[in-house]
Amino acid sequence: MPNSTVARAGENPDARRSKRGLIERAAGLLGGFGARLLDVVYPPICLVCRRAVASHGAVCPRCWGEMGFIERPYCERLGTPFDREFSPGMISLEAAADPPAFSRARAVARYDSDRARSLAHRLKYYDRSELADPLGRWMARAGAELLCDADLLVPIPLHRTRLIARRFNQSAALAHVISRESAVPVEARALERVKPTPPQVGLTRGQRAANMQGAFRLREEKKPLIEGRNIVLVDDVLTSGATVNAAARVLLRARAARVDVLVYARVVVQS
Ligand SMILES: [Zn+2]
Repeated sequence: MPNSTVARAGENPDARRSKRGLIERAAGLLGGFGARLLDVVYPPICLVCRRAVASHGAVCPRCWGEMGFIERPYCERLGTPFDREFSPGMISLEAAADPPAFSRARAVARYDSDRARSLAHRLKYYDRSELADPLGRWMARAGAELLCDADLLVPIPLHRTRLIARRFNQSAALAHVISRESAVPVEARALERVKPTPPQVGLTRGQRAANMQGAFRLREEKKPLIEGRNIVLVDDVLTSGATVNAAARVLLRARAARVDVLVYARVVVQS
């Protein structure tokens, strides 16, 4: 996908966002008339390619078809799609050979879809206010069976130094939208990232897992919220699963009844 779709050339994204935020707030005060006014000033555009669409927060039909949405049949444990029909409840060879610490993972889309990946990247670095809402709503739908009897959403935290640099934890933003959609509460301060982990790019599966050892700690005062509860860990992207596995282990040690994982995009390795 061309980079020109990430930010319009010659426009300062921060200025564009703050101007838009002001107009959105003003439009909100004006009710239905305000919404129509907003459509005139900022016509709805596709989240991915910025072509005109019918409503705000939507994707055009062409991008929709290439989003790499993950649908059944998939591995019941890992949520990875099967390329042919398997009987219901089947798990993949990968899940059988190397079972994850969590019970089930679900994802909206495949990370190898250019369109899905570009939204994940923009959520992290550029258009957080524009994207957390639609992506969180998609996640609530993809994770409906995890959320129906969940007690708590726990977003994967950033390390303090990274949070200061970026000022925004995309997983917490997604968790708040999922909470609004599913009525499952969020506890964004349950887990603490105590080890600044370097980027995992280029590392093997084993190296990633070793890197994540001891990366998370459960805050002592939050332990009563975890014991005996069904927890859904929320993250933006699942790559090898090392991060969510490390976090799931911490929650299971604190006697969580069950830990599931809900992400926006996941890497799919064909086995
Ligand atoms: Zn589009």
